[in-house]
Amino acid sequence: MRAELVFTGSELLMGYVQNTNAQFLSEELARLGIEVTLHATVGDQWDAMVRVIGEALERSDLVITTGGLGPTTDDITKDAIAHLLRVPMVADQASLAEIRAFFRDKRGREMPTVCERQAMFPAGAVILPNYKGTAPGALIEKDGKVIIILPGPPTEVRSMFRRSVLPYLAGMPGRGDVVRTRVLKLTGIAEYGVQELIKDLGGQGNPGLGYLTVPGEVQIRVTAKHADAATAESMVEDLVSKVLEAVGDYVFGFDDEVLEKSVARMLIDTNLTISAAESCTAGMVAGRLTNIPGSSRYFLGGIVVYSNEMKTSILGVPGETINSHGAVSAETAVAMAKGVRAIIGSDLGLAISGIAGPGGATAEKPLGLVHIALATPRETICRYFRLPGERVGVRVGAVNTALNLVKRYLEGTER
Ligand code: ATP
Repeated sequence: MRAELVFTGSELLMGYVQNTNAQFLSEELARLGIEVTLHATVGDQWDAMVRVIGEALERSDLVITTGGLGPTTDDITKDAIAHLLRVPMVADQASLAEIRAFFRDKRGREMPTVCERQAMFPAGAVILPNYKGTAPGALIEKDGKVIIILPGPPTEVRSMFRRSVLPYLAGMPGRGDVVRTRVLKLTGIAEYGVQELIKDLGGQGNPGLGYLTVPGEVQIRVTAKHADAATAESMVEDLVSKVLEAVGDYVFGFDDEVLEKSVARMLIDTNLTISAAESCTAGMVAGRLTNIPGSSRYFLGGIVVYSNEMKTSILGVPGETINSHGAVSAETAVAMAKGVRAIIGSDLGLAISGIAGPGGATAEKPLGLVHIALATPRETICRYFRLPGERVGVRVGAVNTALNLVKRYLEGTER
């Protein structure tokens, strides 16, 4: 079965909005064993849209569109599809009632007349409810082809796909091998360093490995294809275990795992509190830890001590320690961690001091050198890392590495 995806919206063509629907839908279809042969992005102009969707319908068995279901005059996706299928647009009374109720109950006003357009569909469409917004989607089977019309906002696409589209596609005949994927997220190591350590484990084969670098993080994507989903899963797991043997120390998470969420859960489970003293990351650890709702249960506070004077006057790091070892040293990081833990009165005190660059590096203290200390009730752990990348990469990498140190301590894997 061949599938094509058509993303509508001039904002995508202009580069104002990143096309995250493309990534989401492609991954989901691969999981289902549906081969996506083409992505097209088209603006909100009638002629272009009719041509692009029309060509996709000629070539493929399944066409999925996103965007252009809103109430404004540039929202023309459904009209273009009705035109191509040579069917009229008809009002769906149930959708109309739901949109009216949405405005009455959630917005406290009557539905604007322009919103009636959101309840109009090509005749013969099965309506897909929108639990996250007002514009319903639609599914149409015609002449052996299937066309699925989804809204634009990614949260609406995800919810509608999982609730209505996935069960439908999973029952379609003619699907091929399913794809299973696991993503390992690493920090504290450059992409070439990862490659060096796992070069014998294979590349583009089946199962295969792929790489992606974002600031402060290298992702390894382990993928396998097989007719049988369980076999594809075990192929992935076998290769993941081998990768973990080689680079497990650098791994701070899997798939969609959010590091600060894992740390938050573990701190809550163990009833421990934490504080942070930050130099080169200047509050980024505090920011990440407080991204999570309810963070006041475990995060007591953070102190940014950028200058040496502040490290001494606020945290009590002895001037002598800074003079003889430097601000970026294990001794200073340990004193910062103990200092913040004592001042704030938390169970754990995390400290970061490093060279984010571009200036300040020396032969002994190169760009990316970061000392991270964690003061605990029993001891103070201190590690140093040589983080890859430029300033942003080093700072984000320092935060990931520091949070991973806390995670490993709480798991009992950091000794
Ligand atoms: P609305 O009811 O909001 O008008 P819609 O179905 O008409 O929804 P669009 O107007 O095309 O959808 O898009 C709404 C918003 O969704 C866009 O401003 C954009 O931020 C986001 N969006 C649209 N398409 C994509 C995409 N492919 N990837 C990521 N975001 C997208």
